[in-house]
Parts: sequence; C-alpha cells; structure tokens
Amino acid sequence: MDLLDTLTAKGLRGEVPTREEALAVLATTDDELLDVVAAAGKVRRRWFGRRVKLNYLVNLKSGLCPEDCSYCSQRLGSKAEILKYTWLKPDQAADAARAGVAGGAKRVCLVASGRGPTDRDIDRVTDTMAAIKDADPEVEICVCLGLLSDNQAERLKAAGADAYNHNLNTSENTYGAITKTHTYADRVDTVQKAHGAGLSACSGLIAGMGESDEDLVDVVFALRELGSDSVPVNFLIPFEGTPLAKEWNLTPQRCLRILAMVRFVNPDTEVRIAGGREVHLRTLQPLGLHIANSIFLGDYLTSEGQAGQADLDMIKDAGFEVEGAGEATLPRHRADVAEAAQAGGGCGTAASACGSGGGCGPCGGHSHAAPVQETATGAVTQTPAAEDGDELRSDLVKVRRRGAGTELAPNA
Ligand code: SF4
Repeated sequence: MDLLDTLTAKGLRGEVPTREEALAVLATTDDELLDVVAAAGKVRRRWFGRRVKLNYLVNLKSGLCPEDCSYCSQRLGSKAEILKYTWLKPDQAADAARAGVAGGAKRVCLVASGRGPTDRDIDRVTDTMAAIKDADPEVEICVCLGLLSDNQAERLKAAGADAYNHNLNTSENTYGAITKTHTYADRVDTVQKAHGAGLSACSGLIAGMGESDEDLVDVVFALRELGSDSVPVNFLIPFEGTPLAKEWNLTPQRCLRILAMVRFVNPDTEVRIAGGREVHLRTLQPLGLHIANSIFLGDYLTSEGQAGQADLDMIKDAGFEVEGAGEATLPRHRADVAEAAQAGGGCGTAASACGSGGGCGPCGGHSHAAPVQETATGAVTQTPAAEDGDELRSDLVKVRRRGAGTELAPNA
C-alpha cells in the first residue's frame, strides 16, 4: 500500500500517521499534488462532510505590543503601518462581530495585542462578550489575549467564552529564534490553563518563517498531543517593517502540502486555513477547502482578506456549504472528549496550546537542507527546499484600513 493509501486508511479510522509519513507528505512532488489533495479530502469529508466553518476576527486592541514575535506586525518596534488603537468599547466590538455573524460566521474571535491580559482587561472582554451574546446568543466566542495568569481562564469561561486561542506557532526547537520575550513553555502553559478551565483549545502554527519540514511536523504533532480542538494554519504574511519581511518561502503548492500534512495528523480536528490564505494560496484557495474545514471570513487582524462575499462565492462554487449555527463542528467522539474535559476541568492527555501568533525563524533567509525523500509514488527525489519562496510579493499584502478601529464598515 503506498503512502497515500496508508494515510487515507488511517485518517478514515481517525488514526495518526507516523512522523515519517507526515514528513513524506511534505516531500511529495507537484505531479503528486492532486493525489495528495484527494487523499486528504477523503479524510476531511469522512469527519466534516462538505461543511466549512466560518470564523470572524475582531481586533479589540491593535498594535503597540511589548512582545517581540518576529512574524507579527504588532510587535515591539514594528515599522509596519498598521492600524494602532487601544481597547474597543463593547458596543463597537459587538457591531463588528454582528457584521461577521450576518455574513455567515459561526464563531467570533476576539483578539487583543499584548503579552497577556490584566484582570481589568478580563472585565472589558467580559462586557464585550455580554454585548455580543445579547445580540446573538448562539454565536461561539473564542478569546485570544496572550499569556494567561491563574484564574483568568476560569473567569473567561464563567463569562461565556467558548474557546481560547493561543498558537504554538512553531517547534519547540526553533521557538527561541522567533521570540525572545516569552517561551514555548509559556505558550504551552497558557493552553493548558485554558483547557483546564474547560475552554475549547484553539492552537495552531505559522508556516513560512524559514522553518524546516521537521519543525513543521514537530509542531503539528505537539498540537495533536496537546489536544487542540481547532488548528489554525497561518501562512506567514511578511509585513514590511517586521524582521520577516523578506521571508517569501511559500508557494500555493507548498501550502497545500502543509495543509494536507496537518489534516492527516489531525484527521478529526478542525483544521482552519488562517492568515495568509489569499497571499499564498492565491488562485488555489478552493483546493484548500478540500483539506481544511474552516476559514476566516473577510479580513484578518491587521491585513485585509478578499471580500467576504468572495469567500462565500468560493465555498459555493467549490461545492461546499457554510456550517450552520446549529451544526456541531467536531465529530461526536471528539465533542464527547471535549465535553468530558470541560466537565472534569481538563483532560490529562490533552493540554491544548493556543496563542495569538506564530513563531518565526531567523529573519535572514532560510537554510533548509534539501531533503532526499521517497515520494508518494515510491520515487526517490530531492525536494527543492525553498522551492517556493523566491519572489517578493509585498504587493499582495494589504494593511487593514476598514472595520474595527475605523469609521469604515467591516468586510464580512
Ligand atoms: S503575536 Fe501577540 S504577543 Fe506576539 S507581538 Fe504580536 S500581538 Fe504581541
């Protein structure tokens, strides 16, 4: 049985592949790409049908962060000309959230820049969640405020939060090259705190920061082990004015391979195409829907996505359907685990990790060794390491100038 048959069979049973199998997915060739997408698509449809969950970002507080995450346009010392503003008022945030829900979003993601929230910030977010749920009681709310202190996750849960996002971003080995002001262990700790408080864990990664295939596989297995219920896959948006501005390491084909690897390792977990979808997948975005079951609608925190209507049209044209408020996202067996963890105050095997950002590699270029791999079809080939990344496409990065924090209507 060749690689893709094995991965499909395992995925249909909800089994996790070996690390070597995951690496082999990243080493497949462009000639094999549609077969890889088709195999991942079978697994996706087994657990999630043709549903696409829409999530909507509301940036509650933008820029001026004291942390130094290299990939982030809001970081300390960032010269990126992004919107900078302090906390939105609850009614302002609720207005933005309402636009997203009206556009089809099932989950609203409330994000604030910063190392972590003060207790006063938790009060603010509590008021904001109340304003949103007053208008839309069914909407799921995910909160992303950075590193949590003791009891803050419990307070968020009691205030009505459904989930907490804190991304691991990259492998433990490379985390220190991305961020100096906090550690990988800090991020894991926050995910565990959120999970322990009964919040659904949303934790993912950022690809394209100069990391190796091994780093990608490491972080994806770590997320599986932590029990993340949703795994956002970000593709680095190399903002001018950040240390990673020149890190254009991705092609649409590479992005699809990464998504497929994430799907095979997380067959029954929500896999979300997050930031960088339009910038890096470009015209191949619809193929991504065959692998991932979740995307963000409209704009991102500091950059603009395609029009919300274009997202909806793409989903329809590709033969998928927007997941409704009354539909469960996770398969029943995963939802049962999540509910048991919530009832029991956390699950021993799963410590979801979450975070607001990615990790990043050294900003001065990437030195992936070109790995020799056996391909899905059995041929031995040398994968061009950064086969991709060649062109600087800063023309594709559009700073967000509408929606939250502006006088202009949100894109939803
Ligand atoms: S990812 Fe979050 S913590 Fe890191 S610099 Fe950006 S806003 Fe700050």
